[in-house]
Amino acid sequence: PPVLRLTRVERRYPEGERWLEVLKSADLEIRTGEIVALCAPSGAGKSTLLHLAGLLESPDGGEVYLGGVATGSLGDAERTRLRRMEIGFVYQFHHLLPEFTALENVMLPQMIRGLGRKEAAQRARQLLSYMRLEARAEHRPSEMSGGEQQRVAIARAVANVPRLILADEPTGNLDPKTAHYVFDALQALVRASGLAALIATHNMDLAARMDRRITLDEGKIVEMA
Ligand code: ADP
Ligand code: ADP
Repeated sequence: PPVLRLTRVERRYPEGERWLEVLKSADLEIRTGEIVALCAPSGAGKSTLLHLAGLLESPDGGEVYLGGVATGSLGDAERTRLRRMEIGFVYQFHHLLPEFTALENVMLPQMIRGLGRKEAAQRARQLLSYMRLEARAEHRPSEMSGGEQQRVAIARAVANVPRLILADEPTGNLDPKTAHYVFDALQALVRASGLAALIATHNMDLAARMDRRITLDEGKIVEMA
């Protein structure tokens, strides 16, 4: 099955006496190995779509499937479990913990999931080296550049071996050259680990490098050229 599948997804918010229809019968499929750009103007519903895909919100209609599992009928505990197992989140601002080193930041999600310190450290080092950050492992976020911090955030997002990366403007606060470098690292990781990624971005040069581009048009998901 596709890593992520949305069928006829509806999402509306109350707006005064009426409803704001953000998603109207939205359909989407993302398969293993695919990196999909989500390009749409502000307010079009990008965050809503990412939150639905990440099981942080529930649709008002339709179904969200993760790895073939229909999530609509799952309870909160089961949704949280699935989210923690299947999804890695990357944000524009990295939310690294300032008092911890790069290595510890990448170890933490694994230890929360019950992995021993030694195994977590081993995997964290491996991921940091994949991101070409070996030399930064013992540094705190404040001692790193923006691009380095964002690469640590990506390593942390995949530490628990998710199947899907959901990213909201992951390079939004980086200069263009660094943005491409961070994307290179993310792409290499997706390819090497058989993940899939849905990446909201305003950077059209970056979007052009992804496998597919989608946009939101009147609540529908539309493939772009
Ligand atoms: P984007 O991420 O593309 O900027 P959003 O998904 O954040 O768009 O929002 C889409 C629309 O839905 C916007 O008009 C926004 O104001 C509205 N919206 C988002 N979340 C809520 C909410 N919790 N309650 C009411 N309106 C919301
Ligand atoms: P944890 O408790 O391990 O952080 P959660 O399942 O609560 O895991 O959240 C998973 C991810 O979703 C985290 O990266 C968290 O930052 C993010 N997250 C949780 N709630 C929200 C939200 N309302 N909006 C955006 N991101 C969220």
